[in-house]
Amino acid sequence: MKVIVIGAGLGGLTLAQGLRRAGIDVAVYERDGARGRTQGVSLHVDDRGTAALQGCLPSAHVAMIDATMGGPREQTLSLSEVDGSLAVVGVEPSVARPGRQAHRPLLRAILLTGLEVRFGTEFTRFEQLPDGLVRAWFADGSTDTADVLVGADGIGSAVRRQYLPQAQVIDTGRRMLMGATALRLTPELPDLIGDNPAVARIPDTTMVVAALRFTSPPTVARQRFLPALPHSAVALEDYLMWALPGPAGDLPRAFQRIVDKAWPEMTSELRTGTIPPIPAWPASPVTVLGDAIRLAPGFGGNLAMRDAHRLCLALAEADRGQLPLLDAIGSYEDTMRTSVPVPAKARR
Ligand SMILES: Cc1cc2nc3c(=O)[nH]c(=O)nc-3n(C[C@H](O)[C@H](O)[C@H](O)COP(=O)(O)OP(=O)(O)OC[C@H]3O[C@@H](n4cnc5c(N)ncnc54)[C@H](O)[C@@H]3O)c2cc1C
Repeated sequence: MKVIVIGAGLGGLTLAQGLRRAGIDVAVYERDGARGRTQGVSLHVDDRGTAALQGCLPSAHVAMIDATMGGPREQTLSLSEVDGSLAVVGVEPSVARPGRQAHRPLLRAILLTGLEVRFGTEFTRFEQLPDGLVRAWFADGSTDTADVLVGADGIGSAVRRQYLPQAQVIDTGRRMLMGATALRLTPELPDLIGDNPAVARIPDTTMVVAALRFTSPPTVARQRFLPALPHSAVALEDYLMWALPGPAGDLPRAFQRIVDKAWPEMTSELRTGTIPPIPAWPASPVTVLGDAIRLAPGFGGNLAMRDAHRLCLALAEADRGQLPLLDAIGSYEDTMRTSVPVPAKARR
């Protein structure tokens, strides 16, 4: 079996690693260059993401991720100014499940290790051939043909636009400024909040902060677990990530300093969208995963990796002849469609 994966994001790379491990031929095409775009500096990885990574990646990759994530994050704290100083005043209602924080560019570099990705190759369209195969077309005029085409190409998915045009992205209108600042410049905050994220409500501004203290120094972990990782991926120091989810009023001095001292290349303004669910569609050799089909702000990465793991298991079953290919894809899609994101607080 051969699988074409469009998109070298969290979902596409997790799938490609899993297929490779299962001995399935996989070709990954990515529109951006190898450096990729800024898509948030860190990622909260919960039990779903962890299980998917363990299920798809070689053990050395898993050990490298484990060694370089932050400590356990059990809850979201509330911060407030009390007598002119910041203090923890309670626990926030949170949609996040417990997990740990990963540095996103490092996680991506680990996911890329051992894979050959065709960077700078933009997918434009596909055609289903009479013999059941799928042909993918790229902006440079080249094509590739496979048994399965997977759209792991994120919110603007060109695969979804052609295959499921009824699925529409709606801009929620919400905007958020995010960034990261070296932890050595704000030593007082980690003492206060530990590894947990915290929400500070300051008269007319809300600010989210969280420290990422690498469990092992990434350079040491690389040496021990994954020497094939590029040196540049592990030249990192502990930091504080922060987000301003609404308009910022006057910030207390300590917070203003965090924003002022942020690393410019890690600062970005984000828009959030949503994709309302669509009715089931018949299975074919074309399928989609992650943000390409469902957006879940704050935990979409975990769902994308979980989709990748489930699809990988289904395709491996088909490859072994235990299930017809379209039944395997259909059963993956049934599970993916019904696992609508439910916030942790809504669960019993
Ligand atoms: C600031 C921020 C913070 C976040 N924090 C978290 C978090 O803590 N936890 C969490 O679980 N989720 C988080 N998310 C959500 C998470 O980032 C996404 O849900 C996740 O990246 C989706 O993965 P994906 O593989 O589906 O898509 P993506 O990661 O978006 O990857 C899609 C890839 O496809 C490529 N591509 C697009 N079009 C084409 C084309 N035509 N041809 C070839 N390649 C193409 C893109 O360049 C991209 O590399 C956060 C998102 C943001 C923006």
